[in-house]
Amino acid sequence: MSFDVDTDVIVLGAGSVGCFTALCLRERGIAVTVLDQGRPGQQSSGVNMGSLRLQGRYLGQLPLALRSQELWEQAEERLGARLDYHRGGLLYVATSDDELQRLEKMARTEAELGLQTDIMDGAAMHARWPWMAHWEHGGSWSPQSATVNSRLVTPALARKAEALGAEFVIGPEIVALEPVDEGVILTARDGRRFRCRRLVNAAGFWAGRVAEMLGEPVPIFAAGPVQVVSEPVPHFLDAMIYTSDSKVIFRQTRRGNMLVAGHPRIPVDAVARRSRVPAGKTLRNFRRMLRLAPHLEGTTILRSWTGIEGYLPDMLPVLGESRRHSGVIHAFGFSGHGLQIATGVGEVVADLLSEGGTQMPIADFAVDRFSGKLRDDVDLRHEFEDDVKHA
Ligand SMILES: Cc1cc2nc3c(=O)[nH]c(=O)nc-3n(C[C@H](O)[C@H](O)[C@H](O)COP(=O)(O)OP(=O)(O)OC[C@H]3O[C@@H](n4cnc5c(N)ncnc54)[C@H](O)[C@@H]3O)c2cc1C
Repeated sequence: MSFDVDTDVIVLGAGSVGCFTALCLRERGIAVTVLDQGRPGQQSSGVNMGSLRLQGRYLGQLPLALRSQELWEQAEERLGARLDYHRGGLLYVATSDDELQRLEKMARTEAELGLQTDIMDGAAMHARWPWMAHWEHGGSWSPQSATVNSRLVTPALARKAEALGAEFVIGPEIVALEPVDEGVILTARDGRRFRCRRLVNAAGFWAGRVAEMLGEPVPIFAAGPVQVVSEPVPHFLDAMIYTSDSKVIFRQTRRGNMLVAGHPRIPVDAVARRSRVPAGKTLRNFRRMLRLAPHLEGTTILRSWTGIEGYLPDMLPVLGESRRHSGVIHAFGFSGHGLQIATGVGEVVADLLSEGGTQMPIADFAVDRFSGKLRDDVDLRHEFEDDVKHA
């Protein structure tokens, strides 16, 4: 039987995770082909807000997040490309005194794990960001968090990986997988067939279907974080601003546009691969931002959008080896925060494939964790609109 591609490693999915993985594999001299039905970064990886937030993450993920941050620091040089990387810091604005206490507790624990975070009282915040309304409860500030331009990242990664010898096959939609003695055979809707010794499942939300075809179903669901962009305004903001309940998230781009987001996420059509933001939700998010930054009243909204992201009920990704098929690695379901850790995830997957293991603690992200008890500090009702169908 002949195959369109017959190689060592196939990475299914040319998002930021798949492309960082391909880059790391080529840097280690491993033959890799990336398959995607669309262009690199066409889905979630190309439409995200570019927030490389370190605070407020699941603590078991902080080592991976901090390593990823180190890798982001070097990414423009490594790729030889402009990514608009900017370490401007991140401020969580407490929405109440109780919330400030929660942020304080979080900061103490994060400091033990190596994340530098300062608790600020309202007066200090007001002095530093005098335009801000509702600073009275204080907040938590980390200078380490950064931003990047997501439209630039994945295409630049793909170009670099390709220059180092990775093959990209763009077009085939993989509809069937067959584990065989010496690897996996993938079949595309157009009939093309691909064979690899080892497979990386980095297909974003749709990776859930891939895992299911491999006999490892997970309770993944799709949703879209609302994003709004305004006309450019005079520069006043270097940092990212989040309210402590994440209902308001904003930053200013280099050109001066305001990028605005905030929970809850909305329903999307992952089957048709379509997502759109109802006008009311665009206005809701923008108005919430105006309550914190009233001097922007009258600013024109240019457009809004969302994208299709895969979420797991504990808001953690699936990352690690398949429990059923040796040589298969899962890396998907990044639950709205995958860009920040994509650099580290690429390294972890390359470690698993080239060394047979990783120093990074990833046991909490195992594909078979859903049969046991999940972490109970997540309340999906605050994270998603009621009409998002979650598991
Ligand atoms: C609107 C929005 C805002 C976000 N904001 C942030 C943020 O600020 N910070 C942050 O860290 N994260 C953010 N995220 C999440 C982040 O974008 C992702 O977690 C991250 O980029 C990883 O994506 P991925 O590579 O896993 O998946 P994707 O980018 O979705 O890539 C998966 C790829 O697999 C391909 N594929 C799937 N199935 C098949 C198949 N059967 N055959 C062929 N190809 C297939 C798809 O075409 C796609 O290109 C946001 C997400 C969205 C949608």
